[in-house]
Amino acid sequence: MKLSLIVPCYNEAENIVAFHDAVVSAFEGCGYDYELVFVDDGSRDATLHNLKKLYRETVTPMKVISFSRNFGKEAGIYAGLQHASGEYLALIDADLQQRPEIVRDMVAFLEEHNDFDMVAAYQDRRGESKVLSFFKKCFYNLINKLSDVNLHRDASDFRTFRRSVAESILQLTEYHRFSKGIFAWVGYKTHYIPYQACERAAGTSKWNFAKLTNYAIDGIIGFSTRPLRLATYLGCLTAAASMIYLLVVILQKLIVGIDVPGYATIIVLILLLGGMQLLCIGIIGEYVGRSFEQSKQRPVYLAKEKLGCDE
Ligand code: UDP
Ligand code: MG
Repeated sequence: MKLSLIVPCYNEAENIVAFHDAVVSAFEGCGYDYELVFVDDGSRDATLHNLKKLYRETVTPMKVISFSRNFGKEAGIYAGLQHASGEYLALIDADLQQRPEIVRDMVAFLEEHNDFDMVAAYQDRRGESKVLSFFKKCFYNLINKLSDVNLHRDASDFRTFRRSVAESILQLTEYHRFSKGIFAWVGYKTHYIPYQACERAAGTSKWNFAKLTNYAIDGIIGFSTRPLRLATYLGCLTAAASMIYLLVVILQKLIVGIDVPGYATIIVLILLLGGMQLLCIGIIGEYVGRSFEQSKQRPVYLAKEKLGCDE
């Protein structure tokens, strides 16, 4: 098999057939064989039903892995990589925001350039809201400063790579998967191309601001331990400040004779220190929580049904 298209689907019932048709027309006359690896991420709508119907009717080689519940897109990608048999592997969304024609170009690029192992598309952000753009920029600046990996700003999961890259990614069995970081961590020479995301064909995006914030925190915690260092620095800083203040208080008592420092000062200090302590406990907690999750060694996903996958 030359190419595997890995498609995570969560509540994409209306898009399945349209997506399949778009792929078939994009790859018409490409001269190599390809397969569709659909991962149904515990959809609550008719996604699985439509996938099964398509599986019976299509002539395109196709696999379906159906999760027992919603495990998230990252788990879907992981399952797709495990079951894909292509020499090249492409990650693409089911909602037709990413045109399959681009995958064809990506494969052509890799065929021509032996020194590259991966082609990643990054989104042309014209048209995105300024506020979201600003937060995204902050996130990328922060994670690139804090962690050892270097993320390309705006680079998405929309990418095509060689089997060697997929094998490397599968060696990372961590439970909390942050694929942007994982792609950067495994390395390999990557070619970046801009692309314009289309409107969603049907359905709604599964992302909102709160989810994006949590995703950003997951990314930073997963790829850097420097926030822990921040806690240490904060501790040292407040300790030093309190020593200085102690000296001030003693001198005031000895020289001026003031006994009781202001009520406001005490309240402010209590609140400030309390806040800082909670922040530090929170940071430590994030890491302890992750070690706990990882130590349970639970599988990244559970599949209740598979079609077309020979085991
Ligand atoms: N997706 C998934 N599991 C989830 C959420 C999303 O498999 O829990 C899939 C979804 O079906 C789609 C892709 O991931 O194919 C991207 O999701 P979405 O379109 O909601 O994200 P956006 O394009 O808005 O960033
Ligand atoms: Mg989308």
